[in-house]
Amino acid sequence: MEVEVSRRRFLGGTVAMTIFGGAAVSTGLLSGGEEKHNSSSPRIPKTVTTKTGTGEAEKVPFLCGMCVNKCAGYARVEDGIITKLDPNPHFPKSRNMLCPRGNAGIQTTYDPDRLKYPLIRVGERGSGKFKRISWEEAYDAILNGTDKFKGLKQILDEEKDNRATIGYCNGEGLSKEGFETLVGQKLGSPNYVDEVSICLETAGAGFFATLGVYPEIDFEHADYLIISGANRAEAIITPDTQDMFKHTKRRGIKKTVCIDPRFTNTAAKADKWLPVNPGTDLAFVLALTWVVFNENLQNEAFMKKYGVGYEEYKQHILSHKYTPEWAEPICGIKAKDIYTIAREFMQAEAPVYYPGRRSVFSPNDYQLRRAMAIFQALSGNIDKKGGYIYGNPIMLPPEYVNAPIYDQAKERFDTEGIAFPTLKSGSWIVFRNMVLEGKNPYPLRVMFMRKHNPMMSVPNSAKTAEFLKKMDLNVMIDILPSDTAMYADVILPEASYLERTSPVKAYGFLEPAVVMRKAAIKPLYETKEPEVIYKELAEKLAKPLFEISKKYDKDLQEQIKLRGEKKVFEEDGWNLADAWELPVYEKNKEIIEKAFGPKAWEILDEKGVYYPHMEEYFKQLNPNEYQYYPKSKKFYSTMGDKKRVVCKFDRLATRGIDPMPTWHDEWKFSVPEGKFRLITGRHAQFTQSGTTNNAMLRDLIPTNYLWINKRTAKKMGIEFGDKVEIKSEVGKGQLLAYPTEKIAPNQVFMLHGFGSQSEGLELAYGNGCNDAAIIKDDFEPVFGAAVMHSTNVEIRKV
Ligand code: SF4
Repeated sequence: MEVEVSRRRFLGGTVAMTIFGGAAVSTGLLSGGEEKHNSSSPRIPKTVTTKTGTGEAEKVPFLCGMCVNKCAGYARVEDGIITKLDPNPHFPKSRNMLCPRGNAGIQTTYDPDRLKYPLIRVGERGSGKFKRISWEEAYDAILNGTDKFKGLKQILDEEKDNRATIGYCNGEGLSKEGFETLVGQKLGSPNYVDEVSICLETAGAGFFATLGVYPEIDFEHADYLIISGANRAEAIITPDTQDMFKHTKRRGIKKTVCIDPRFTNTAAKADKWLPVNPGTDLAFVLALTWVVFNENLQNEAFMKKYGVGYEEYKQHILSHKYTPEWAEPICGIKAKDIYTIAREFMQAEAPVYYPGRRSVFSPNDYQLRRAMAIFQALSGNIDKKGGYIYGNPIMLPPEYVNAPIYDQAKERFDTEGIAFPTLKSGSWIVFRNMVLEGKNPYPLRVMFMRKHNPMMSVPNSAKTAEFLKKMDLNVMIDILPSDTAMYADVILPEASYLERTSPVKAYGFLEPAVVMRKAAIKPLYETKEPEVIYKELAEKLAKPLFEISKKYDKDLQEQIKLRGEKKVFEEDGWNLADAWELPVYEKNKEIIEKAFGPKAWEILDEKGVYYPHMEEYFKQLNPNEYQYYPKSKKFYSTMGDKKRVVCKFDRLATRGIDPMPTWHDEWKFSVPEGKFRLITGRHAQFTQSGTTNNAMLRDLIPTNYLWINKRTAKKMGIEFGDKVEIKSEVGKGQLLAYPTEKIAPNQVFMLHGFGSQSEGLELAYGNGCNDAAIIKDDFEPVFGAAVMHSTNVEIRKV
């Protein structure tokens, strides 16, 4: 293994890669397979340079696939090789910027550990022993099985066409919907789980239920900022992060208050850092709200007009006596600070309580988001300049999928212990645990998985491994041999985001736009674009699975009698592949021409971005700044009198959930003597576990350290760089210690995404500790989202 990029060269901002043909295309394959990674070949070619590419280069618009933000760029392509990624100035959301992680995206395509060919399992699940096969053999194995596992045809026959025996999970990205179309609509599975229930489900839902929006923030015009639990300085570096920090320290935003258990880089850049006890932010917000009502600081006219259950909420807060003195021993923030912040916030012209962009940390997270949204609304600073922005969506024509109706398919089952189970994205923990505990009302026997790594993202990895081992058939579509791919029976290698054209996407808010990612180069090795995989798999499965349905589905038998088999197959959606009749590029063209006309398509095709009046509005103002919409055309206020602030949400009470944010003492923070509360977080240089094998990024953050209080560490004889064991009731791991004053004595912290156990990932394998192996499987009661900060751990020097 050779890592050829130094930190300074990489951050120089103009990293260019000159990759000469085969040098980038090593023969690395999954461990245990027929081929081994050639460790003498460099992970990044030696020809990496800081110069921009030479010679004639094609400029292909792409959307970054390294994280959820989807910044726009241009791929420089020379002789069929991507030599450099540049930012695309046309997209208002990313404003001519790619972060270091986005620049390192080129390595996703040229990672020697990539999945290169379809693979079939030849060893035990989890052993990483696979054999290279052809695409046709892979599709055939999914349908008919092998001597190691059963195929879909046999399973569905045994289950009498109950399509709910298929479960599926999916990761974030532009091809996500296509996978949902394939397994959810076309194959008929209701049992879907994705990243939402292990990410910001309650944040989105809490704000949406209260204000009807998960808002964008106008940092440019805000003048007071509370940021709690969200570490923007480290977690995601985007233009709006920069907007925020450009305006802090009295450069527009007069005061930034950071509420966080750790002294993060965001805390370092704030005017005030208030360390909060993990999981108690709700008590802090309720006390802020009490001060506002007690001193009558709220925008009463605004709340009287838009508030739903406003008077009851006011009485609720005052009668519960959520005073700062009450909150201080719970959240650890001094009462006098709570008084000051509440008064300053309400006196500011454009105050913002940042809604957060984070996982669910405590069981009260949904109520916390509701309380934050209501507190913001008390200032009246929503749907206006300097506040919460609803913005304006750009509408694309809806897509119609001709999905068959499966008479025998049962409903999804992951409902136990959840007040409002979501039909859409489900609860990963409840779904998995109900299967392990035998509580599923019918057998779940198949998992289709794509670009999702539950072994490293869903708390309690040991249970996830057990769950995957229980299945009769696991299929994985992915780019890298992740820890979860190790449990697959068939692996289908997907093209990286620079090798594929993706479905067009519309972004709303302040400056709306439509964007398109085009394939910079053809898929390398034998990888395929996801939509091609969906189509080919659908073609392979359609007729044999139709035969199974014909056997058990009385409605279908009736229809065939009435209209004939051929007609029913074609007209009622049983031809599973008909959803992908047009290649993605052609379909994008059809959608955009239909919505905006041929000129819009020309612009989108060339620049990767389109919005109405773009030719007139878009201007370069100076070397670093662009105008997308003139100030008067930006969508600061769009809701008018349609705004609502739902303070009391009666429907919640019907399922035992407080209709108004309420504190319960069971949420108090406590850690037994000798133990620590584990808190986790992410870093802008890594996207969960998806990028820890990236050699360029590894150069920036080599591993995840365990933050431990310096004085505590000293007492325990732990010094910087010592190897320590971290152990919870569900698992353990080892990593290096980082003693620091920036964390409380009864807490420890580690970055998420490290500690892979897949030997196919040469850099990520065994590097650091996987937090999902340590965090216990608690979930919050409203939607069943995973609670990340409720685990106590023991630490010892190894
Ligand atoms: S923030 Fe960085 S990683 Fe995320 S999409 Fe933008 S450039 Fe890519």
